[in-house]
Amino acid sequence: MSRPLVFVSACLLGQPVRYDGGHKRFPYLDVLANHLELRGICPEVGIGLGVPRPPINLVAVNGELRLLGVKDRSLDVSEKMREFARRQAPLMAQADGFIAKKDSPSCGMARVRVYDLAGNLLHKHGAGLFTAVLSQALPQLPIEEEGRLNDPALAENFLTRVFVHYRWRNLQAEGITPASLLEFHTRHKYLVMAHSMRAYRALGRMLADLKNSGPETAARYFAELMAALARPARRPNHVNVLQHLAGYLSDRLDCRDRRELTEVVETYRRGEVPLIVPLTLLRHHQSRIRNPYLAGQYYLEPYPAALGLRNAI
Ligand code: SF4
Repeated sequence: MSRPLVFVSACLLGQPVRYDGGHKRFPYLDVLANHLELRGICPEVGIGLGVPRPPINLVAVNGELRLLGVKDRSLDVSEKMREFARRQAPLMAQADGFIAKKDSPSCGMARVRVYDLAGNLLHKHGAGLFTAVLSQALPQLPIEEEGRLNDPALAENFLTRVFVHYRWRNLQAEGITPASLLEFHTRHKYLVMAHSMRAYRALGRMLADLKNSGPETAARYFAELMAALARPARRPNHVNVLQHLAGYLSDRLDCRDRRELTEVVETYRRGEVPLIVPLTLLRHHQSRIRNPYLAGQYYLEPYPAALGLRNAI
């Protein structure tokens, strides 16, 4: 596994699979393709609807969401779509994420339009049927919509989770032992702290007595870890982490460097510079001092730096 595998709604990759034979190519995927293995999937084609095909939408029928034809309500592909999602889940469990087409009655993650049988708009809080079943089957799989990836904080959060998921799958492939689980946790500690102090403490407690715990601990650990990372990392938490990490270097820094590092973290706290600024200074000192504990911390580089995600948060 040389890079994370991420499934993508095929129309976002420029594949002409939409109901009208068109696509919705999402240019940012060209950037992501340098760091991820992207694989297209079109659930509507997957259930045998051709291209072109009659458009479908989400319809509330007797309190249940169904996928029905827009013009011909007798076209009902709800069960076919649910079954397709259930069959795809084991395959997508071997991936590290899913980038879903927003607004789609099949792929949309949230805020999808829901209609009544007469075609009146009821609300915009639906989830595409394929993605809804998939996220229930694989609650730890990072899922995001292409529209939300235009928001730097949401893109950063999604890609952080994708790369953690990928490292976890690699760990599983090697066989998880108490020692390897502990090492995995140690290296992700400060990343977790940036997202949730509560989860940071809870995960530490969970692994405190690993020798006397069963194999289910690893699954429980990963579920809690991914739930914690799904919460956006807030600026005060980043400041807290930066101060902790600076503490590992401080006795090797002279007064001037220590003061400069403190001041740069403060400028980040005040929102005057992005996260990359204090991090770059911290990494600069770390490259000279080479603290072995800091060297292992994924917080310093949770994903390839070339993605530039911390330049905008
Ligand atoms: S949104 Fe999903 S179902 Fe619709 S064309 Fe794109 S990949 Fe296919």
